[in-house]
Amino acid sequence: QDDKFKKVISHAKEYGYVFQSSEIYDGLSAVYDYAQNGVELKKNIRDYWWRAMVQMHDNIVGLDASILMHPTTWKASGHVDAFNDPLIDNKDSKKRYRADVLIEDYCAKIENKIDKEVAKAEKRFGETFDKAEFVSTNPRVLGYQEKIDTILKRMGESLGNEDLADVKALIEELEIADPLTGSKNWTEVKQFNLMFGTKLGASAEHAMDLYLRPETAQGIFVNFLNVQKSGRMKIPFGIAQTGKAFRNEIVARQFIFRMREFEQMEMQFFIKPGTQKKWFEHWKETRMKWHKSLGLGEENYRFHDHEKLAHYADAATDIEFKFPFGFKELEGIHSRTDFDLKQHEEFSGKKLQYFDHEENASYTPYVLETSIGLDRMFLAVFSNALQEEELENNTTRTVLKLPAVLAPFKAAVLPLVKKDGLPEVAQQIVDDLKWDFNIAYDEKDAVGRRYRRQDANGTPLCITVDHDTLNDNCVTVRYRDTMEQKRVKIEELHDIIKQEVDV
Ligand code: ATP
Repeated sequence: QDDKFKKVISHAKEYGYVFQSSEIYDGLSAVYDYAQNGVELKKNIRDYWWRAMVQMHDNIVGLDASILMHPTTWKASGHVDAFNDPLIDNKDSKKRYRADVLIEDYCAKIENKIDKEVAKAEKRFGETFDKAEFVSTNPRVLGYQEKIDTILKRMGESLGNEDLADVKALIEELEIADPLTGSKNWTEVKQFNLMFGTKLGASAEHAMDLYLRPETAQGIFVNFLNVQKSGRMKIPFGIAQTGKAFRNEIVARQFIFRMREFEQMEMQFFIKPGTQKKWFEHWKETRMKWHKSLGLGEENYRFHDHEKLAHYADAATDIEFKFPFGFKELEGIHSRTDFDLKQHEEFSGKKLQYFDHEENASYTPYVLETSIGLDRMFLAVFSNALQEEELENNTTRTVLKLPAVLAPFKAAVLPLVKKDGLPEVAQQIVDDLKWDFNIAYDEKDAVGRRYRRQDANGTPLCITVDHDTLNDNCVTVRYRDTMEQKRVKIEELHDIIKQEVDV
C-alpha cells in the first residue's frame, strides 16, 4: 500500500500532474502546484461537478464569493471559537501530532486485522463475504469491531465536551507510541485554531485582522438573500461554489489528501424547516450516484454516518473512498439546520428570511450541504487510475486509466515518421479536432514508445498517421485500456472521440 502511494506521488511528478510548491527552495509543506496535465485534470473534475450540480439542476445557481470576508463572519460561523484541532506533543521527540488522528490510526490498524480475517476466509471458502455480516457472525472479529466502536465513541464524547484530559488518557491507555520514535511520553492535549490570519490595510494602527477563509460555505450563507432576491429563487433551491480554502493543518503528510491551501466544491441547498431528513437522503443518494458514474469501482465507496455531530448539524455522513492508504473521507454531506443563517442574522443584525408564498409565512430556511475537496477527488481519480499491467510478452506497462471525460488530453495524434508529409497531415488533424477537444501531438521516438508515454499520461486514444493515410485518408485508432487498434476514416474521428468522452 505504501509502495502504491509512493508510485502515485512519483508518477504525478514525472508526468506533469502535481509538483511540490516552491520546490527549488526545498518546498513548502502540504502546499502543491498543479502542472500542465494536472491543471487539465483538475479543471475537468471541477467542470464535471459543476455540470452535474448547476447545469443539470434548474434550481441550483453558481456563486464566486471572495476568499477574504468581513472578520465577523468567522465569529458568527463559530470558526474563531471552535475550529480547532486537538494537538499533543511527544516530550522525547518534540514532534507534534493531532491527538484524534493518532487514535484513528490506532483504530485503522484494528480495522486492517478485520480486513485480513475477511480476506483469509474468502480465500479458504472461495466466495466473497459481506464484511458487516462476516463481522457480526464471527465472535473474535466482532470483538475487534466492538473495540473500535468503543474507542471512537469515547473520543467523540470527550472532544465534543472539550474534555481533552480524557483524550490524553485514551492515548495512554491504548499505549499509543510516537509513530517515528516509539516514545510514549506525551504532553497534555491542547486546542489549536486552524485559520490563517492576515491583515487588511497599510498602516499598522489601522490594519484590520482578517482570516483566509477555511471553507467556501460562509460566502454562500452571507449572500443567501442577495441570490434569492436577484434570482427570484423559490425554496428549495441551491447555491454552488468552487474555490480555494485555507487551513493550517498539523498532520499534513498525505500528499494532496490534506493540504494547507486546497479547493472545495460546495453546494448549500436551502429548504423548508422540517424537510431536512428527506433532503439529506436525497443528496446522499444523488452524490453517491455522481461518484459511481465515473466508474472507479462501486466497491471503493462507502458511507460513514457521524455519531459525533458538529455544533451546527443534525445529521452528517461522509462519502469515503478507498485511497491507497485505506478508506478516508472524500465528501461530506451535512444537515446544517438554520444554524448558519441564524448566526449571521444575530451577528449582522440583518434578517435572512424567506417569504414562502404557498405558506404565506416567513421563515429562516434550513440548509443541506454537500462539500467535496477538489484535490481529494483528484487524488481519488488519479490513484485509482494508476495501474501496472502485465502484458502477454512478459513486459509490463504503466497505464493511467483515467475516465475519458476527465483525461487532460482526449487523443494524441502521432505521425508514424517525421517525414514524407506525415507530420503535416497529423498537424491538420489536430487543427481540426482542437476546436472541440484537447488534443496532443507527439512525433518524437518510435511509435511504440509514444503509445507507452500516452498510456502513462492517461490519454484514452492514440491516432496514428502512416503512409497509407496519404492514399486512403484513414488512420489507426488505438485504445489505451484495451490496446485494440482499428482503422477508421479521418472524418469519423470527431464522433469516435465524442463517443469516448460521453458518460
Ligand atoms: P477532515 O476530517 O479530513 O479534516 P473535514 O471533515 O474537516 O475533513 P470538511 O470541513 O467537511 O472536512 O470539508 C469538506 C471537504 O473538503 C472534505 O470532505 C475534504 O474533501 C475537503 N478537505 C477538507 N480539508 C482538506 C484539506 N486540508 N486538504 C484537502 N481537502 C480538504
